[in-house]
This record gives sequence, structure tokens and C-alpha cells, in this order.
Amino acid sequence: MSFDLLEECGEAKRIGIAGHVRPDGDCVGACLGLWQYLVKCLPGTETKVFLEKPADIFNGIKGVGEICSDFPEEPPFDVFFVLDTSTDRLGGAEKYFKAAGKTVNIDHHVSNAGGGQVNIIRPDMGSTCEMIYDLLDTQRLDRDMAMALYVGIIHDTGVFQYSNTTPETLEKGAKLIGYGFDFPNLILETFYQKTYVQAQVMGRALMESIRFLGGCCIVSSIDRKTMDFYNVEPKDLDGIVNQLRNIRGIDCAIFMYETGVLEYKVSMRSSEKVNVAQVAAYFGGGGHAKAAGCNMTGTFHDCVNNLSLHIENELKKWETEHDERNNSH
Ligand code: 5GP
Ligand code: MN
Repeated sequence: MSFDLLEECGEAKRIGIAGHVRPDGDCVGACLGLWQYLVKCLPGTETKVFLEKPADIFNGIKGVGEICSDFPEEPPFDVFFVLDTSTDRLGGAEKYFKAAGKTVNIDHHVSNAGGGQVNIIRPDMGSTCEMIYDLLDTQRLDRDMAMALYVGIIHDTGVFQYSNTTPETLEKGAKLIGYGFDFPNLILETFYQKTYVQAQVMGRALMESIRFLGGCCIVSSIDRKTMDFYNVEPKDLDGIVNQLRNIRGIDCAIFMYETGVLEYKVSMRSSEKVNVAQVAAYFGGGGHAKAAGCNMTGTFHDCVNNLSLHIENELKKWETEHDERNNSH
């Protein structure tokens, strides 16, 4: 890659970094990993991170306390990095992106067409943190940066388990744990552990789930009232859709939560048969082939019916391709 992070920053006096709304582990890890790197390598430059407040599980990552979550007015940034997202999901940080002198978009989402002046989009990469690792000078890496990037890699690969894990991902993971942070605890606390209410809400979602399309798809939702009753926020619902997808025989899992009157945030996970990035794209969303999301309006049943049509198409497409392959053998 003929791209040098520090060279791209040139003589910048002020650099901004932002990721997507509802930041996940990869987004938080990439933003803080890059922030730490730039602060270390460009000490005369002011570097700021703008993100919605990350979940408390990420509090151990260096720099969390420096994140600006209230999106104040700021003079234009000389260079502005958009990480782990296309430029349409920046939320309150969009104004900095629009005003910046130079914009750099680094992402691994297949749905990202590249909205920066400089774009590094690698759908073959399992996480944005893996991309950041490749882009920085590893001589300057330290324990805190390694930990930030490791968080992103484990979150987006399901702790090196999803099919986006490559030999190179594992090599990077190996190098990163060499910096000596407490990785077993980091995996436990940021990935597996749930609070009691999170477990209760997950239990409810699993109990009330419904299978459809002959039993190979599953959907569940949590409404506003239930979220209020348990006093949970959207970030407390992470992991429910993965649990639905883990059910034997399921090719596509959908989890939805109510964001407003007749409004839902939809998360989808799938096996190889359904490209959920395609399905999400029909509804203005995006993501990866096996993990994607979108926002939808209508009743729960309207949303499921609309999604179901596109999922069925994906299943048919897969079966046709599969039949053709079988017949040609
Ligand atoms: P999650 O279901 O965990 O929210 O998201 C799964 C993947 O899809 C993530 O990579 C996330 O960034 C992406 N994603 C989720 N919702 C949206 C959306 O509304 N638009 C786009 N472009 N991507 C989304
Ligand atoms: Mn990511």
C-alpha cells in the first residue's frame, strides 16, 4: 500500500478522527489506536477523537476519557480521518468531516464506496484495526496502542472465529499480545461478559424469537417499553443477534429494537447462504456479507415481511448457484 499515515498528515496543526454512530469495539479501537499513534508521532499537532460515548466495557482503552462526545463547534481540521464507516454514518461528527481541509476514509465495509478525498477500503480485511496495524510503523507501537487495536480485531472477528479471520489476522494478534496486556481478561470483559440485565433482556429476546421461511431464519425484537423496564440502552443489546445466529439450522438471524414510533434498528447475521449486506442495502443500510444492519420504518410485521422477501431471494440465489455447481461436477 503506497500510503503513509504520517506523510498524509503533512504539516497538519489539527487532526480529527471519527467513526460511526453507536461505536462498536472495532470503531473505538481503531479511533483510539490511531489517536494514540498520532499523539505519539506528531507531538506538536492537536489530535481529537469524536465519537458517541462508547460502552463502559471499553473504559480500559487508553484515551477513552479524551473522546469528545458532545460534538462542539470547532475550527476546521487540517486532516480528518473517518474510520470503520462510510461518511454517511458519522452522526454529530459529520460537520467536521464536511469542513476539513483533507479527508481520509479507512474502512473494511463492502458497502463503502469511499467518501473521503483519500480512500482505503478493504472488504477483505476482518477489521479496521487490522488495517490500522498495517498502516502504522510497528516500531512505534506500544502496549496501549496494541491493546486498542487488539480490542477491534477480537470484536470484529468474534475472537478469531468468524470467516473474516485470516492467517495474517492471527499473526497480527500474536504480535499484539506480545506487548503484554492482559488479553484473557480483555476478551472476557469486552466480548463475553454481560451484566445481569443484559442477560435478562437477551433471555427475553431468545424466548420470544420466531422462526420463519421454513425455519431457517429467525427474528426477535425488543420494544421501547421493555428497554425502559430493564433500563437498558441500545449498546446493552449487542450480542443478541449473534446468539440467535448460533442456533442450529439458522441461515439468517435478525434482531430489531425500537428506536421510535414505528422505527427500528435492524441487525442481521447470516451463514454463507444469505448476503445480508445486500439485504441491508435495499433499506439504505450496509455492512458485511455476514453481518449488516439498517434502519426501518413500519410495524414489526411490515419490517419482517419486507426483509423476508429479500432474504428469500438471497436463499434462492444461493441454491441456484449451488445446484449449478453440483451439476457441473
Ligand atoms: P450491527 O448489527 O452490529 O449493528 O452491525 C453489523 C455491521 O453492519 C457493522 O459492521 C456495522 O457497521 C454495519 N451496519 C449496521 N447498521 C448499519 C447501517 O445502518 N448502515 C450501514 N452502512 N452499515 C451498518
Ligand atoms: Mn469494523
